[in-house]
Amino acid sequence: MEAMEETRSLNFIEEKIKADLADGKFDNTVHTRFPPEPNGYLHIGHAKAICLNFGIAMANGGVCNLRFDDTNPTKEETEYVEAIKEDIKWLGFNWGDKEYYTSDYFETLYGYAVRLIEKGLAYVDHQTPEQIAEQKGTPTKPGKNSPFRNRTIEENLELFTKMRNGDFEEGVCILRAKIDMENDNMLLRDPLIYRIKKVTHHRTGDDWCVYPIYDFAHGQSDSIEGITHSLCSLEFEVHRPLYNWFIENLEIFPSEQTEFARLNLSYTILSKRKLLELVEGKHVTGWDDPRMPTLSGLRRRGYSPEAIVALCDEIGVLKRNGLTDISLLEHHLKTHLNKVAERRMAVLNPLKVTITNYPEGESELLDAVNNPEDELAGKRQVPFSREIYIEQNDFMEDAPRKFYRLSQGREVRLRYAYYITCNKLIKDTEGNITELLCTYDPETKGGKSPDGRKVKATMHWVSKEHAVDAEVRLYDRLFSTERPDKTEEGGHFADNLNPKSVEIISGKLEPELKTALIGATYQFERLGYFCKDQDSTGSSPVFNRTVALRDSWAKKK
Ligand code: ATP
Ligand code: MG
Repeated sequence: MEAMEETRSLNFIEEKIKADLADGKFDNTVHTRFPPEPNGYLHIGHAKAICLNFGIAMANGGVCNLRFDDTNPTKEETEYVEAIKEDIKWLGFNWGDKEYYTSDYFETLYGYAVRLIEKGLAYVDHQTPEQIAEQKGTPTKPGKNSPFRNRTIEENLELFTKMRNGDFEEGVCILRAKIDMENDNMLLRDPLIYRIKKVTHHRTGDDWCVYPIYDFAHGQSDSIEGITHSLCSLEFEVHRPLYNWFIENLEIFPSEQTEFARLNLSYTILSKRKLLELVEGKHVTGWDDPRMPTLSGLRRRGYSPEAIVALCDEIGVLKRNGLTDISLLEHHLKTHLNKVAERRMAVLNPLKVTITNYPEGESELLDAVNNPEDELAGKRQVPFSREIYIEQNDFMEDAPRKFYRLSQGREVRLRYAYYITCNKLIKDTEGNITELLCTYDPETKGGKSPDGRKVKATMHWVSKEHAVDAEVRLYDRLFSTERPDKTEEGGHFADNLNPKSVEIISGKLEPELKTALIGATYQFERLGYFCKDQDSTGSSPVFNRTVALRDSWAKKK
């Protein structure tokens, strides 16, 4: 906490906690939780909630629980539980043994419902969903009481037991809290709290055929766990009076809810439901497609957890919704990768260069610096030989004066190698340049000039004979509009998908990259950051472009 105070001012939640601690509230403890619903993979929005909840607990000597809010058996799966745990660990947070499941509280929650019935505060309603919806009213028109609202406590207890025992089919009846059908807050108009669902739950199997709805589980789970500060995103603000009504009437631990603004990122959709649609509609290859804003997608793309945490830190916690520019995330990513990623050479659009005065059949190993930002990263050796590849766009015929790279009669430096001069070009019958004939100056080994002669460009290259062929996936943004959720009337967010979000090419890599580990991210010199993908096989590596060095997006616009 002290360290944090030094670098930035407290956000409103931190201020509140500081005040609570000063007042001796909650016996001077801070206990938070991160409560994902296991109905999808975590996305970068969740990272904000994770950083907030774990961060606040850590800063105050408190504890943060990981609780799976698994009340809806139709949408939840064990696969999601496992993926969520992996992602939180990857971000760098640890919940120790504080792993909980709302489904472990089903018996307690059922007991809470019985308690409400016994207090005359809940009733079984046998109307159809349509009838109930009709009586609900509108924000400006009060609702109407259900004809079943005044059932006796005994009758309600008996009917609720029957619901639990499976004596009714799905949809025949529900349990509702008896609050106020005329309340200005629609959520307090006798809300549904338990419904019949004859579905198998991913953890409790077929033990239950009645399940609490989220609103009757979330707040109470906080109470059961003794959560002091229940931090929710803004959309739960209108739910707070309902949660407080439950807490008061059940006489349980008074967790205190505070709401904060969700993270919204430009060119991105952050909603599990919509991300699932992308997966099921095969618009992406899966939850971990490198174009997805999921933590598993970002990881596969080559993002570092440090970059994500740095973004969350920078945007802070606010009370008002906004839109964060995705280039801010990319900025933090490049800042971090620049420090930690080792450099390698790769040519993505190869043009063959023959160095005519370099002895045929020979090669040599040249020293190359792994990371100029990190001396400890050391050096490696790259092979050089008579035939090499350079990037096609590093050469121009009839180049204007300001084109500083290679052209006929001009000299450039090959990184870590030699100065070369282009003497001649070879073209195919259609006039495409297929090869350059160059000479090198043996006196310039290591790219150093012996006589102080200067060249304007330093170019990357790969020895043809030693090159490793790789599939390179050039990713761009998944959506082409800043707010993909905004669509024409009758449109769908998928209409805003970027048709060019991936381009697959084959590249030539320096041989060292053959032994790269899956998930390792490198800077390919002058090109960008690239991460070795899990689809790689021993003989043919696959690299994902994490982010280009320059902002290609800004240039396009
Ligand atoms: P989604 O709409 O993506 O399904 P959700 O809120 O339903 O999101 P949960 O699994 O219920 O997903 O979320 C767990 C926690 O993460 C909640 O406390 C929620 O408020 C928070 N959260 C979800 N999305 C964001 C976001 N974009 N920014 C900040 N916090 C978020
Ligand atoms: Mg939710």
